[in-house]
Amino acid sequence: MSQSIAFIGLGAMGWHMASHLPKLGLPVYVWNRTTEKAELHAQQFGTQAVNLEQAVQADFIFSCLPTSADVEQLIAQYPPKAGSIWIDCTSGVPDSARKLSQQLGQNQVAYLDAPVSGQTIGAERGTLTVMLGGNKQAYQRALPIISAFAGLVEYVGCSGSGFAVKAVNNVLMATHLWALAEGLTILKQQLVDVKAALNCINHSSGKSTVSDSIMAQKVLNRSFPKTFALNLLQKDISIGLDLAQQQDSNVPIFESIQALFKEIPKAQAEQMDFTAAVSVLEQWNQTVLEV
Ligand code: NDP
Repeated sequence: MSQSIAFIGLGAMGWHMASHLPKLGLPVYVWNRTTEKAELHAQQFGTQAVNLEQAVQADFIFSCLPTSADVEQLIAQYPPKAGSIWIDCTSGVPDSARKLSQQLGQNQVAYLDAPVSGQTIGAERGTLTVMLGGNKQAYQRALPIISAFAGLVEYVGCSGSGFAVKAVNNVLMATHLWALAEGLTILKQQLVDVKAALNCINHSSGKSTVSDSIMAQKVLNRSFPKTFALNLLQKDISIGLDLAQQQDSNVPIFESIQALFKEIPKAQAEQMDFTAAVSVLEQWNQTVLEV
């Protein structure tokens, strides 16, 4: 019998991720809280806009929502059918993954935590990195489907492991952003050519994804296009720090990064791209990182 796929949450990431699924040749159902987006997606990519009752009847159900709480609420109201696999691409909480995995498992549904990295451009190109936790057989069944939007799908361990890796990755990204902004501030105050300095760093050991592309594309040109909201990065940092706290890990840099990124209140952070966090540093130093 032909299998079907559903994608729930057509936001900055989900919109593009779901656009790659029709090439698999299976029916692809999409649902979004704002219905018009799902209808537009169907028109543009050959997916089918459906209601949630229909979406959760699919064999492979993707979700890409802001938080684990959003996913839990949705699953509680609309439980998926037995035999299906729920692939949660939200950057979520490991404890929630373990809870959902156990709860859905009682109804013969496999839950995989499968957060993604690679920004909206990676989602658009279908080259995302997927860090996957959960049942290994379910992972093997889902792999050909997930590969439609991924450049790398890495199985990282039992349920919750994918979310844990994603949280750590994003604290590292935040660290690189903040540290690079500090470095460029020092150099600008030294009257060094910031663009040339960045080029040197990108050919040296201080290079990172932030130095290589994000800093020039979003900060130095002052465009700060909102593709990944700052409040979502604040959430990811908190997930990482909660894990550290649960285990009593001694993580001074991660703690500092959390404090620095909390400088901008959540309501304001919802409206900003994550890179705009450097404005705090710019104000402290009265130095604008403009080139
Ligand atoms: P967006 O804010 O762009 O999209 C969120 C999506 O979730 C929208 O479709 C929104 O619907 C829907 N939504 C929000 N709240 C609810 C709810 N309570 N119930 C049902 N649907 C809801 O987020 P992103 O796409 O940027 O992020 C999604 C996830 O992916 C997050 O966990 C994020 O941390 C992660 N991520 C984001 C990256 C990025 O670069 N943006 C990169 C990697 C991971 P509506 O259209 O109605 O608002």
